[in-house]
Amino acid sequence: MRCSNCGVCCTETEMLLSKRDIALLVKRGFSESYFVNYDQQGYAQLKNLEGYCVFYDLAKRQCSVYADRPSGCRVYPVILDEDVGIVLDEICETRDTISLQEKRLKGKKVIKLLEMIDDEAADRRS
Ligand code: SF4
Repeated sequence: MRCSNCGVCCTETEMLLSKRDIALLVKRGFSESYFVNYDQQGYAQLKNLEGYCVFYDLAKRQCSVYADRPSGCRVYPVILDEDVGIVLDEICETRDTISLQEKRLKGKKVIKLLEMIDDEAADRRS
């Protein structure tokens, strides 16, 4: 797909993180407390700073950790709508440039990723 770098998807992000996502960014030198929020259900989520993901470079309008960005950011704008299933996020202005094949492939990844994230959150609660 063709991303326009509008930055909307990195604004007030609610992106969930897997253990692997966290480990990759910690390996890169970031402390977990800098970029991770844990909610009461044990889910890890990217932190925001002044309205944007902590990793969003506002001056350059790009992700500052692009090579190591979380899995959810990689499959975006494909997301899971609890009521509808796999959909393209409506806030993404270039969502229609994604091919059907890419949507299907990323949709499978989203399902797997969310199952893993659910399991990891359950482990934290136990
Ligand atoms: S990690 Fe990068 S791509 Fe993901 S929300 Fe943050 S700035 Fe955007």
